Amino acid sequence: MAVPVEPGVVTVMAARDGDQRALDELVAGYLPLVYNIVGHALGGHADTDDVVQETMLRAVNGLSSLRDPAGFRSWLVVIAMNQIRERHRAHQRVPVTGEVPEDLADPGADFVDLTIMRLQLSGQRREVVAATRWLSEDERELLSLWWLEAAGRLTRTEVADALNLTPQHTAVRVQRVKGQLDAARIVVRALEKQPRCAELAEVVADWDGDPSALWRKRIARHTRSCRQCERVTTDLAAVEGLIARLPLVPLPAALGLTQPLLAATSTSAALTQVGSAPVVTGKVALFLQGALVKPIAAAAAAVIAAGVAVTVVLPSSEEPVAQAVSVSTSAAPPTSILPAETAPSPTPSSSSVPPTTTTTVAPAPPPPAQPVVASVKKGVSTWNFDGVTKALGDVRAGWYYTWGSTPEGVTAPPNVEFVPMVWGEKSMDQANLDRAKANGKALLGFNEPDFAEQSNMTPERALDLWPKLQETGLRLGAPSVGVGGDKAGGWLDRFMTGAAQRGLRVDFIPIHWYGGDFSAAAVGQLKSYVEAVHARYGKPVWLTEYALIDFSGGSPRFPSLQEEAAFARGSSAMLESLPYVERYAWFALPADKPTGTGLYLPGGTPNQAGEAYRDAG
Ligand SMILES: [Zn+2]
Repeated sequence: MAVPVEPGVVTVMAARDGDQRALDELVAGYLPLVYNIVGHALGGHADTDDVVQETMLRAVNGLSSLRDPAGFRSWLVVIAMNQIRERHRAHQRVPVTGEVPEDLADPGADFVDLTIMRLQLSGQRREVVAATRWLSEDERELLSLWWLEAAGRLTRTEVADALNLTPQHTAVRVQRVKGQLDAARIVVRALEKQPRCAELAEVVADWDGDPSALWRKRIARHTRSCRQCERVTTDLAAVEGLIARLPLVPLPAALGLTQPLLAATSTSAALTQVGSAPVVTGKVALFLQGALVKPIAAAAAAVIAAGVAVTVVLPSSEEPVAQAVSVSTSAAPPTSILPAETAPSPTPSSSSVPPTTTTTVAPAPPPPAQPVVASVKKGVSTWNFDGVTKALGDVRAGWYYTWGSTPEGVTAPPNVEFVPMVWGEKSMDQANLDRAKANGKALLGFNEPDFAEQSNMTPERALDLWPKLQETGLRLGAPSVGVGGDKAGGWLDRFMTGAAQRGLRVDFIPIHWYGGDFSAAAVGQLKSYVEAVHARYGKPVWLTEYALIDFSGGSPRFPSLQEEAAFARGSSAMLESLPYVERYAWFALPADKPTGTGLYLPGGTPNQAGEAYRDAG
């Protein structure tokens, strides 16, 4: 899953009205997006951290004047672009003569290297990222926005607004930059090809080795007219498809905000808050003041050094060294799990621990009267949102989970069972395992270990960790793979084979499924997948994430509410009818984002799909 999970409009409004915790959440939640825009636009120049900070500071200071809270992201991106241009202008005012200043030439600060290493890119995805080096400053500026549009994190309207262009004009400029990027991809390939074309070697004889738009044009001109280089231009995949599900580059440690600290800050701030104008406190404030910021170059260099070491020592290892975990993926709510999971800090105590004071700060509404639970099979995945208790009761769910070992602040009505999860390797400390044990009867294993932006581990690593999960004594679900649960030799197959060999216990198989075909055929497609997984392992199946999302294009495409409602009805009836499906859970209960497949709006009222899912099962 790679749908944006920045805080929604409710948080923006609360922050604007002076809610300290919301403001902290807003800054922390949007930091990765701003960092990625600025990183792409400046190519990781040493000013990146300054521009990111200045952008967030201006946003915080200007928040009270924001008229349309729903337009927060768009407004923030405009601020970021203005800061980027301001930095370009400031740079141009200082004539650069002679040697290039050292910080400009520092390869450790290269956002391209950082992206490739931290997201563990290979093949054509690596080539695309490497090709961005060959763009000019203006082209980069556009690319920084379009890239995030293609990755599903900005809309075309937001991109157009940030560029101050009409959508039509934006489309024209995007086409041009895509053409330039494709030319640059061919340049990357032609230069990497061994042995290098003799004529090309002549063309680049005077080249200083620094990628530039000028040299891109020269080299591209050669490749177009050269019989030998022409061959490298084949099988160029559409760039949108290559970056469609690419996660954001995680914040460098220097910019990172770890959740426990942030939570502690927020809690104390909220307790002392007297309704004054928003003032960012604690660690967020230190960040904005620059007190915590070390040169990004240092963080980047460390990552790259680690990555190179892995390549040399373990060329075939799948074991990640750089934490290639996104700070923004939909399968984990932004308020608790992800920042803790992705915090670069090695401290084990930084794993997902919701602050116990949360409920005293923001008391959850009292649970409604005993809900009518339609089916113990039907459930939902959720994060905490306004109206969650009401929604959990209304949807007639038998169970729910939060991707965490605890309800993460969610208050469920009685009779709605909570199922804990041990999300990833960083959730493996004893205290967290104890919490899981105390909070549930069944335990979900690691979340999408087959995806770099999720829990990201090899089957062998998961097997090494498995005995600790077994020790909880809870009924135990296998790691839930994102794709290919029915494939011989796939991640799950390797895990299950290893578990049998090592005599490890797996009681049921959780899986995820997203369908890109929004027609009535979707129910049958889901059924085939569930059947195939059951046939392969012969164990009960839990479908723990599912919905209709089409990932095949440039950005994730969502169904209409009508299509979603029809699928909710049909899929639920089908899943109820399969005796080996023990549980299923729609992704997700909250509809608190501008796009997505959520069922309940802030306040806890269902949309059309929510009504259908409520009435099903
Ligand atoms: Zn050639």
